[in-house]
Amino acid sequence: MKFHNSVRLQDNVYGYIWQGMGNNCNTTVITGVLKGDKQHIIVDPGHITNEAGEDCIGSLEQAMAQDNIKMQEIGLIINTHSHPDHCQSNELIINRGGAQVTLSEEEDKFRNTVGERMYTMFGMKPPHFTPLFFLKEGELDLGKDGFKVQVILTPGHSPGSVCLYLPDTKILITGDVIFYMSVGRTDFPGGDTLMLKKSIDKLAVLDVEYLVPGHNTEPNGIIRGKDRIKRNFEAVQMFF
Ligand SMILES: [Zn+2]
Repeated sequence: MKFHNSVRLQDNVYGYIWQGMGNNCNTTVITGVLKGDKQHIIVDPGHITNEAGEDCIGSLEQAMAQDNIKMQEIGLIINTHSHPDHCQSNELIINRGGAQVTLSEEEDKFRNTVGERMYTMFGMKPPHFTPLFFLKEGELDLGKDGFKVQVILTPGHSPGSVCLYLPDTKILITGDVIFYMSVGRTDFPGGDTLMLKKSIDKLAVLDVEYLVPGHNTEPNGIIRGKDRIKRNFEAVQMFF
């Protein structure tokens, strides 16, 4: 069963938008940018199976296959944060092809303490992985042909949440910081509403053409177009 809608944002950037009944995150895949034989990056692969019993990872794999992207060719998993619906499938992808993982140091500390309890709370086993390196604020030089990602530390929904900005294509991947007409919840352990507000203010000044939120996007796609994105920021900034 396929629950992901594939949206090609640029030649090598694909958004996989979750369409199932139960909870899971949207995933982004950037192809052909790393050195070596595993050249793809996946951002937030999501659940293995969710609370509705949907085969989330199977659906993602199927959707990616239709775009000729193989799970075994993923070299790096980037997690915007460590909640189960964003990184439960990390270990499975690592076992499939030997991908490495990165997230922020703050989030890694969180997941090894309080965060693990969220998995037990939801009756799941936390994925086992050791980050290759930690994401820091600023430019991350990842590989060939000068491909760069800008890492933005955006705590609030989770203490070590990050967003990713691709300056060449003006794509912003926001995890659970900002959605279409809503924002990430702050009532989970480690959540902080004031910090979330500051993080959203920080993102609002960027020049963005495509916004890929972790959940709740516009029907059938992502938030597209500078003006729409600006209006979306203005609307959610009124929540605070
Ligand atoms: Zn989350």
